[in-house]
Amino acid sequence: MSNCDTCESTDCTSKAQREDENSEQFRERQEIARRMCKIKHKIAVISGKGGVGKSTVAVNLAVSLSIMGNKVGLMDVDIHGPSIPTMINLKETSVRSDENGIYPLEMGNLKIISVGYLLGHADDPVIFRGPRKMGLIKQFIKDVEWGELDYLIIDTPPGTGDEGLSIAQMIESMSGAVIVTTPQEVSGADVRKSINFCKQLNLKPLGIIENMAGFVCPNCSEIHPIFGEGGGQKIADKFSIPLLGSIPLDPNIRVSGDDGKPFIYHYAKTETAKTMKAVIDSIETIVAG
Ligand code: ADP
Repeated sequence: MSNCDTCESTDCTSKAQREDENSEQFRERQEIARRMCKIKHKIAVISGKGGVGKSTVAVNLAVSLSIMGNKVGLMDVDIHGPSIPTMINLKETSVRSDENGIYPLEMGNLKIISVGYLLGHADDPVIFRGPRKMGLIKQFIKDVEWGELDYLIIDTPPGTGDEGLSIAQMIESMSGAVIVTTPQEVSGADVRKSINFCKQLNLKPLGIIENMAGFVCPNCSEIHPIFGEGGGQKIADKFSIPLLGSIPLDPNIRVSGDDGKPFIYHYAKTETAKTMKAVIDSIETIVAG
């Protein structure tokens, strides 16, 4: 049975019906709503800037939820640095498509699609600008045929610019956003911008993840708080948003990303993976509640 059969929400179509039913925009929104209402929880992973571990969180969140038995989709819309194909070791560039849309790649009950698959060679610079870039993002969101899912994890472009904004606007029924930051930027403007971005879009901030918090020494396994401690909690308290947890800077996370072996699975026995798992479990609890 489709979720639509039991869905009492009037949002999907009634919002769209207020627009001109003949317009291209209306048809696009209807098409997106038709696909998205088969997905129970849609979570955006966002960050104020690049390089803070947003894609790392998105991959490990998706893999962990799928290992727990959920049907999960992972959508990489980070148009400037689509790193998911590398992190998950699915670098093939050709995806199947037909009149029903573009089909994600599948690994067990995890479905994956990256905007990188539509951009050609991985080493080519991404030179899309303005309307062309937006057009590609829109087509991507509209055309991917996910089927029914428990979770869709969306790896968004870094920052709070137009790209992230239009992604969140296109997918109306989002569960919320996980904000990834690092101890260096935790007191800076970037996190505040991410929180305001959520407010502006009526996107529920599910919580903050403080990534690269302290260094796990490969020799003694102790965590050294190189950039200080407590910043994540302070900002969480200030904005009344949960701190989902602090993930240390662990060389194995970088290695697993480069090797295409998701950390949460391949390094499951390590202390860092247990910390990461606790963070992921708290996201699941917040979304389910
Ligand atoms: P973003 O998506 O924010 O640009 P990435 O997830 O691509 O960031 O991470 C940037 C780099 O940092 C990658 O090489 C990744 O493997 C590494 N990285 C992310 N988090 C950690 C961590 N906690 N410890 C060590 N390396 C990390």
